[in-house]
Amino acid sequence: MHTVLVAGGGVGGLACAHRLSRRLAGCDRVVVFDQMPMHTFWPSLLWVMTGTRRSSAVTRPFKDLRDARVEVVQAPVTAIDPKSKIIHAGGQTWAGEALVVALGAALDPDRIPGLGAEPGNFYTAGGAAAVWRELQALEHGRVVVAVPTTPFKCPAAPYEGAMLIDAYLRKRGRRARVSVELWAAEPAPMAVAGPGVSASVKEALARRDIAYYPGERLERVAGDRRQLEFAGHRPVSYDLLAYVPPHRVPEVVVSAGLAPVDGWVSVDRHTLETPHPGVYAIGDVVGIPLAMGKPLPKAGVFAFAEGEVVADRIADQLAGRLPAAHFDGRGECFIEMGRGQAGFARGDFFAEPAPAVRAYTSGRHWHAAKLAFERRWWSQWW
Ligand SMILES: Cc1cc2nc3c(=O)[nH]c(=O)nc-3n(C[C@H](O)[C@H](O)[C@H](O)COP(=O)(O)OP(=O)(O)OC[C@H]3O[C@@H](n4cnc5c(N)ncnc54)[C@H](O)[C@@H]3O)c2cc1C
Repeated sequence: MHTVLVAGGGVGGLACAHRLSRRLAGCDRVVVFDQMPMHTFWPSLLWVMTGTRRSSAVTRPFKDLRDARVEVVQAPVTAIDPKSKIIHAGGQTWAGEALVVALGAALDPDRIPGLGAEPGNFYTAGGAAAVWRELQALEHGRVVVAVPTTPFKCPAAPYEGAMLIDAYLRKRGRRARVSVELWAAEPAPMAVAGPGVSASVKEALARRDIAYYPGERLERVAGDRRQLEFAGHRPVSYDLLAYVPPHRVPEVVVSAGLAPVDGWVSVDRHTLETPHPGVYAIGDVVGIPLAMGKPLPKAGVFAFAEGEVVADRIADQLAGRLPAAHFDGRGECFIEMGRGQAGFARGDFFAEPAPAVRAYTSGRHWHAAKLAFERRWWSQWW
């Protein structure tokens, strides 16, 4: 009998655990550890922020997972020993034949002075709901969507957020009285996907009269005055602030010696194995450098694919077969644009010298496909 330990029950962790459950022998165990009682489908937070989903609709309890073979321990992972493949969680010690680290990226809004005190962190369910409350009440003024640091998960999300806010205000007839702008640390939208994708996102913002300020460094937030202080600018006032918080690697991963405090876990980009044999890391917790000099974007589509690759490799290894599955860096994403429209891009991010990504013409069908994807997300495991 074998035991596989999966730290984190997010996108990558659940994909890995469910694939393992299908691939391993009946007597083997798959144990997932998560600090939360619920799994969240993060892409739907954009719809929470603009009122088309309630917070309760974007989570499901782990205890209701259909597959009884996926055991979930609800407890924070407090220590990982990669040499012995041991996890400490909930006051207990767990040992496995293989260990998968899928703890995602930790959110660190306090890294920018004053930012953490602001309610509009739409990368959490509470923050997305807070933006929605403020948005409904906003009759006139200035909405600022801020992305103060890189990297951040889902490179499209802040751009989608700004377009969805714009669409809501237009629908309510308030757009002439409310300006919408986006201030970002990155030099261009979704730049890793190439200049074509960047240009089409910029054009979509311009068409909606959303002012875009790339390459700007947020130094502090004066919440009492409702002002953002960007380097080299006079303070930017706001009536509603929706922001992407700074991201960092979880502390427990640093203490395990798997990542530096200011970096991410290094893995073989095809096998996702860390330097410790039998210890894998997948999803947002990982940093995979690309030939063009930027890292592979942090996105659920990659976390999912990596989780399945790792599950197949572990299943083969435990059965004494040579593992063949490998992660190929291919992925796609929807770009919500409001009013029932969405764009779509798909490509090979391991292509050299730069990712080969194609942006498809936006339309209602991509929005419908995203809705179908959300439905499938829940029906596959719950
Ligand atoms: C608003 C928004 C929109 C997005 N839209 C898209 C999209 O359209 N397409 C796309 O591909 N991606 C999207 N993403 C990104 C995607 O959600 C992430 O890239 C993906 O969730 C990463 O998966 P993961 O398994 O690495 O981490 P996560 O899904 O974040 O899971 C990590 C898990 O680890 C748990 N955890 C953390 N620390 C501990 C600990 N110490 N002990 C126990 N448990 C712990 C957490 O509770 C969490 O459940 C979006 C993200 C956001 C925020």
